[in-house]
Order: sequence, then structure tokens, then C-alpha cells
Amino acid sequence: MKADLRIIFMGPPGGGKGTQAKILQEKYGLEQISTGDMFRAAIKNETPLGVKVKAILASGALVPDDVTCALIAEKLDSMPKDKGFILDGFPRTIPQAKALDDMLSERSLHLDYAINLEVPDDYIIERIAGRYTCSKCSAMYNDSSKPTKVAGVCDECGSTEFVRRPDDNAEVLKSRLENYRDLTAPLLPYYEEKGILKSVDGVGTVGEVTNRIEKVLGY
Ligand code: AMP
Repeated sequence: MKADLRIIFMGPPGGGKGTQAKILQEKYGLEQISTGDMFRAAIKNETPLGVKVKAILASGALVPDDVTCALIAEKLDSMPKDKGFILDGFPRTIPQAKALDDMLSERSLHLDYAINLEVPDDYIIERIAGRYTCSKCSAMYNDSSKPTKVAGVCDECGSTEFVRRPDDNAEVLKSRLENYRDLTAPLLPYYEEKGILKSVDGVGTVGEVTNRIEKVLGY
């Protein structure tokens, strides 16, 4: 088992990056590095970073590259060098991808794969509109594809409190999808050229998509 793979998860918002990254983290000990989760934690804890980015996340715009890259550099420095990771939601722009290349080469590290989870728009809207998480243990659910077994009770920890992301609404989603198309999709040819881009069909059950990713990674 290769526990030191360094992977990027790409794909549209609601494409399943977070769900799949959490599974690979559990199964293979790869560290999930989610810039979105880091920003949301900062907002919740009202840190200076959180205060700075709160309105940006609410609007569906992207946080400036320098702020986002500084967060990733700090995270890489805090981790053991031999630990594999999955970047979930970073990089999202070409300047971020170039900054990541520099950060990794400064640390004598390299990326193994950029996995692109392909999901058509119709699925994205349904997935995003229905998703919610347990406020206590962060287990993820979806109204249509994965509701809690007992209505209103978390399968994992029994909590009865759940949260929906404030940016998971139709209007903000429109801007997130536009940003994805304009700023993030150009990363596909960037990683294709480096020979590490692998496209995976992201439509299907969570388990089916995990199997496809594992096949690509050789797990
Ligand atoms: P996510 O959870 O990945 O959908 O990210 C939620 C929000 O956090 C995005 O809509 C952006 O506002 C911000 N964000 C997350 N990752 C990045 C990034 N790499 N660059 C800029 N903004 C980001």
C-alpha cells in the first residue's frame, strides 16, 4: 500500500471531492487537505483569517491566491514530510498551481496524480441542493442519495443537529460554477501536460466512485 501518494482532487463544486478524500484518508492514511474546510473552520472560530474570508465564501467568490497559498504552505510545514496527502479544493487557479509546484519542489516533494472527478451539471445541482452534515461529527448526508437511516438522527454519532452550507444555494452556486469553468478548469490541460491528469467518472454511488479512484491509484 502506498501511503505516501500526493494527489490533487479536481472537479466541480458538489462533484464528490470531499466525500472521496475523506474515504481515502480513512482507508489509506492520506491526509485530506481541504482549503474550503480550513476557511469554514476559521470562520466558525472567528479567527482573523475567518473574519477576512467570511463574505468571500458567502458570495461564492474565490479567496485571493496569496491568502490561500500561505495557508497551504503552513499546512505542508506542519505535516511530516513523508506523509501522503489529498489536496481537496486546491489549487483552483493557474497561479495557485504554479505556487504549489514551487512549494513542493522547495520541500523536495512532487505530485503523483491530479484526479479529475467528472460530473455533469444536472447532478451537481441535485447533490449540492440536498447536502447536509452532522454539526457534531461532520458525517455527510444527502436528502436524496444518502439520508440518515433514522430521520433527523446522525448514523455515526446520534446527534440531532445538522448544518447546511450557506453557499449551497442556487444563486451562489451559479457563481461557484462560473469560477470553476473560468478559473479552475484551465488546470486540466496544465496537469495533462505534466502527464499526471487522470479523469474518473464521478457519477454513481459513493462506493463505485471510490473503486474507480482506487483503480487509478493502484490501491
Ligand atoms: P469548497 O469547500 O472547496 O467548495 O470551498 C468553499 C469556498 O472556499 C469556495 O467557494 C471559495 O470561496 C473558498 N476556497 C476554497 N478553496 C479555495 C482556493 N483554493 N482558492 C480560493 N478560494 C477557495
